[in-house]
Amino acid sequence: MDTAKNYINEELSGEKELLLKKYKEFREMDLSLDLSRGKPCAAQLELSSELLSLPGKDDYLSEEGIDCRNYDTDLRGLTEVRRLFGEMLEVPADNIVLGGNASLALLHDALTRAFLFGPLPGFTPWCKYDKIKFICPVPGYDWHFHVLEQLGVEMISVKTGPAGPDPEEIRELAKDPAVKGIICVPKYGNPSGITYSEELVRTLAEMETAAPDFRIFWDNAYCIHHLYDEPDKQDQLANIFDLAAAAGHEDRVLIFASTSKVTFPGAGISCMAASEANIQEMLRIRKYRLVNYDKLNYLRHIRFLPDMEAVTEHMRKQAALLRPKFEYIDEVLTRELKPLGYGDWNTPRGGYFICYYAPKGCAKRIVRLCKEMGVTLTPAGAAYPHDHDPDDSAIRLAPSFADMEDIPLVMDVFVTAVKLAVAEKES
Ligand code: PLP
Repeated sequence: MDTAKNYINEELSGEKELLLKKYKEFREMDLSLDLSRGKPCAAQLELSSELLSLPGKDDYLSEEGIDCRNYDTDLRGLTEVRRLFGEMLEVPADNIVLGGNASLALLHDALTRAFLFGPLPGFTPWCKYDKIKFICPVPGYDWHFHVLEQLGVEMISVKTGPAGPDPEEIRELAKDPAVKGIICVPKYGNPSGITYSEELVRTLAEMETAAPDFRIFWDNAYCIHHLYDEPDKQDQLANIFDLAAAAGHEDRVLIFASTSKVTFPGAGISCMAASEANIQEMLRIRKYRLVNYDKLNYLRHIRFLPDMEAVTEHMRKQAALLRPKFEYIDEVLTRELKPLGYGDWNTPRGGYFICYYAPKGCAKRIVRLCKEMGVTLTPAGAAYPHDHDPDDSAIRLAPSFADMEDIPLVMDVFVTAVKLAVAEKES
């Protein structure tokens, strides 16, 4: 059935007729293109293919002589890998603890530990409170919001501006003792593309919080994912670990990262950076969860990316594959939608996403029209707690997975959908 008939049943203007014709043509093409998730494309994965033959047959000893084929008593992970993550995150290696293949699992563990035991000995387990609230900058990462939702946390949305959420608003919210934390992607945000300003980072690190066990879940998933060699000054993220320590709040910050979008998503290495007290508490509980994560995978990665120089070079190659997609999308939006004043978008200099803000009330319709034309996008609203975008405006575009050759077609579909949705609204 031609669903477009449902909404334009009046006399069509020439432009609308043209759009409808395009819509029908796209439908007949039976496209199946996907811009819904931030997955690397095959060419990006290819950059790490050497990993598949590492470590070599006789290569199983860490720099400290740990036999990575066996269990080991060291629960923090190989020193050389912690050192590398330390450099990436600008945190001492001693404050890094390695995890398995997913930083999300470390983040989930940290949250559930806080619920079951309290964030540190002496604090009430969060599950004992009638209500726990979290500050959630929006648009944000859908996964974070689903985790909080499952745990029954009340999510307080705070709008992300050009330099992150408003520090003053955060400061005010933290005066409520039920507000136990914030969960955010501070650099090249998913999906905002925004990097937090120094003022905001300082506020988070230094502000007074009514809850003594306030925690910052700092998901720094895109810390080294620059699209350009020269990162903009605006994209230099202040060091929250040092700032919090200097303010006497060293236990407040939990930083998460992984190599998911450096090497192989789901087959990389994750880490958490935190104060010694937080790490001790984590290890105390984790001790009975597992003996060790996959040390051979640690070794494999450190052989492939032995130092920051190798990492930087590798990320340059990743950027060379991603950048043309981002630039093309920006070009099309600027050419096709800007003159019409249809929406707004960010032009990130790193990360995996472009966030397009459609005219209010149009996002769901645009995503649906794209789907009908064969292009799958992240569901509208997904970047908000409970999948509810009060403006029905934000649409996340994740261009990494699509082939560069398909991007022009995808954008033609997208622009058609935006114009149709706006036309429908205005008619
Ligand atoms: N955090 C953010 C902000 C992400 O965008 C993603 C993946 O899209 C992840 C975490 C997942 O990371 P991991 O594979 O290490 O769990």
